[in-house]
Amino acid sequence: NEKRIYNFSAGPSQLPEAVLKKAQKQMLNYEGSGMSVMEMSHRSAIYDAILKETQDRLRRLMRIPENYKILFLQGGATMQFSAIPLNLLQKGKADYIISGYFAKKAYQEAKKYGEIHIAASSEGNDFSYIPKQEELLLSDDADYVYLCTNNTIYGTEYNYVPNTNGIAIVADMSSDILSREIDVTDYGLIFAGAQKNMGCAGLTVVIVREDLLGHVRKEAPVLLDYALQVEKDSMYNTPPTYAIYILDLVLEWLENLGGIAEIQKRNEAKAKLLYDCLDQSDFYSTSVCKKDRSNMNVTFRSPNAELDALFVKESSELGMCNLKGHRAVGGMRASIYNAMPREGVEELVAFMKDFEKRYK
Ligand code: PMP
Repeated sequence: NEKRIYNFSAGPSQLPEAVLKKAQKQMLNYEGSGMSVMEMSHRSAIYDAILKETQDRLRRLMRIPENYKILFLQGGATMQFSAIPLNLLQKGKADYIISGYFAKKAYQEAKKYGEIHIAASSEGNDFSYIPKQEELLLSDDADYVYLCTNNTIYGTEYNYVPNTNGIAIVADMSSDILSREIDVTDYGLIFAGAQKNMGCAGLTVVIVREDLLGHVRKEAPVLLDYALQVEKDSMYNTPPTYAIYILDLVLEWLENLGGIAEIQKRNEAKAKLLYDCLDQSDFYSTSVCKKDRSNMNVTFRSPNAELDALFVKESSELGMCNLKGHRAVGGMRASIYNAMPREGVEELVAFMKDFEKRYK
């Protein structure tokens, strides 16, 4: 049975079918090399070309200036929660904006290494909104300001870049990188786990402004030293070779369809289908503040937990899977990253309307 489902998982998540097919085609014999990318030495010329091509594509697509370095690392986004303070603290102080579960995790980890200040938090309101500029209590001597641009679990997303008076912003973009146009120069460091919008698990991308490097704490694990990773071009040890190759294919797919401006339009249209459906309904509800709604993770619920469970069961039987909300929130969550086709969202909306009619 070749039929694929619509996978609404928050990550690892659906990949473009074209990417999977190309990887399948190249699986046994990559471009006449007689072997799979998985079997290549990371130091071979043929693999080096893949790595360079991936960096070049990312630089082009995101318009990353030359003074920003691109790193391909392991350990997931979570490893960066430690690497960031270990590398970027100089005076020893940083401000964290707590807008969700993963920003809080990053804050807790950073506290091991310095004087970490909460600039704002929406935890008291169940992370239903993104703290506004006026709420931010920023220190004037912080080494950086930390935020998470899209809160995967709660379904909120920044629609502004905070003014930090020139202090570098460090941004976790794990769940919205490549989904919309950004100006990389608004940030000092951007990082993302690859398993949502970039490819498969095992790879974490870090984009860092050169002048922030060179202050790593001497007791930091060698693999977490950004400056060393830059010097070795992510090859201090074996990088996640296959996951980098999959990223290359995802970036090629994105270039072919018209780049980030085009995918942003499609993403906005997909999210609008779902939010319009929620807004027109008095059966479904969402606790997310309207102006902070995420275009990547749409959270909602039905009138009660029994109906939520039934919704997840019935939708899954129809080939729309992984719509159960995160255990911290309950209800439902539709993750509609770049690779989710519009047809998947249309099918979900049709199901939602039908479900409402039957159980209202
Ligand atoms: N940050 C965000 C915004 C995430 O959504 C996730 C994972 N879902 C993480 C960090 C943690 O990523 P990882 O599992 O790659 O460590």
